[in-house]
Amino acid sequence: MQLSNLCWPAVQSLSKDIPVVIPIAAVEQHGHHLPLITDSMLLGEIVQRAERELSDSVLVTPLQWYGNSHHHLDYPGTLSCPPRTYLDLVAATVDNMVAHGFKRILVLNGHGGNDVPGKQALFELRQQYRSRQDLLLLFATYWSLAPNVAEEVAGLFQQEMAHACEWETSMMLCIAPDLVGDYLAAEPVEPGNAFRPASRAWITQDRSTTGHIGWPHLATQSKGEQLLQQFSAGVIGMVHRIRNWDGSAWEG
Ligand SMILES: [Zn+2]
Repeated sequence: MQLSNLCWPAVQSLSKDIPVVIPIAAVEQHGHHLPLITDSMLLGEIVQRAERELSDSVLVTPLQWYGNSHHHLDYPGTLSCPPRTYLDLVAATVDNMVAHGFKRILVLNGHGGNDVPGKQALFELRQQYRSRQDLLLLFATYWSLAPNVAEEVAGLFQQEMAHACEWETSMMLCIAPDLVGDYLAAEPVEPGNAFRPASRAWITQDRSTTGHIGWPHLATQSKGEQLLQQFSAGVIGMVHRIRNWDGSAWEG
């Protein structure tokens, strides 16, 4: 169920225990072969598939395309909200839904740069509402909800999500082939280990001149369809867990 299609009395009459999904993504460079809107389109598709299955048992807010992408700003066209402002933007959206009485909220992310500010936004809200025991504030990036995807999808070479890579290009070939450029000409860009397990700060130009990271030339439509199925199933599974939560326990 799309929040934006309802009138306010309809929102008022909803059970406040319904799981709320707040999709957040980005408009940022995706190499020479994918459009800027890639992350928003992919998350939109995954959420739409999940929503079709979940029907009236989930409430979805409009996808927030304005993301935190300052690490991509060297590439023309990238639109990025400064990280501290972004943190407040995510917190404000969640807080709106808490103000309307909703208690079970999943911020569903489709872009790596939103991860740190998005999680911090939820931690700060939890502290703001510290006397509440009935709030479930969750953050998940869609590909983390399908951890076995590399084994489940036939023929995948990449073991994890990169950028404008085998995974993203495959999914875009599925949903918007007209927007995909010459991915077969894209040279492999190794993600590297970057001092793991430490987390190294980076801007995209540290790692890639074209803007992509990974192996886009290995993309196929069939891999894309399987990835989309796995990722939407991951979202559906998480929404079921949220719905089955007893309303106060730590575990779920
Ligand atoms: Zn992306």
